[in-house]
Amino acid sequence: MDYPDECPTCHFSIRPRVRGNNFSENTLNSTYDSDVYLLMECPRPECGICFSAKYQESERRGNTVDYEFYLLQEATLKDAFHSEVINKTSDTFVEIYNQAYHAEQQNLDQVCGVGYRKALEFLIKDYLVSIKPDKAEEIKKNFLGNCINDYIDNPNIKLVAERAVWIGNDETHYTRKWTDRTLEDLKTLIDLTVRWIEMEVMTKEFEKKMPKGIK
Ligand SMILES: [Zn+2]
Repeated sequence: MDYPDECPTCHFSIRPRVRGNNFSENTLNSTYDSDVYLLMECPRPECGICFSAKYQESERRGNTVDYEFYLLQEATLKDAFHSEVINKTSDTFVEIYNQAYHAEQQNLDQVCGVGYRKALEFLIKDYLVSIKPDKAEEIKKNFLGNCINDYIDNPNIKLVAERAVWIGNDETHYTRKWTDRTLEDLKTLIDLTVRWIEMEVMTKEFEKKMPKGIK
């Protein structure tokens, strides 16, 4: 059986210690190809982390099954939930937001804030282009702060979006203006912006579907 030759955490060349597996009689008796997992430990005293490796069946002779190393089983990253309305308003926002969220889950705290700030720009500009298509070119070229000021009519969206930009800009600049505000505040303000936009889009859809004076 081949073992992974590099520790996934300290990246030293190692021969891992095998600490366990999920191999069972059922695996052997099964007529299907089945994967098995081995729990391994990095033998370096400075590291010592455990990780699991996935093996795939390579050959079967009578009661004997050979397995070959397939991959290190890594944790998968979660996506954030965004509604249909937001996906339709700006799929780029959803994509960038999730990349920032993935960075955050990996503790990449120096870049996830910048990612959230960029996501916010796409959310607001795509939303504005959707409600003011005749102003699309100006909106795309203009600074985000100016777009919020000049083109957002809904006072609630304006209030939360401009504050999200204030904190978001701090994530991209060398010095911070809002030193007592955190990444969590930025995420909360983006979340509020998302919800106000959702409410406005959905409200307008009902206004359109059920205009006054028809019945
Ligand atoms: Zn290691």
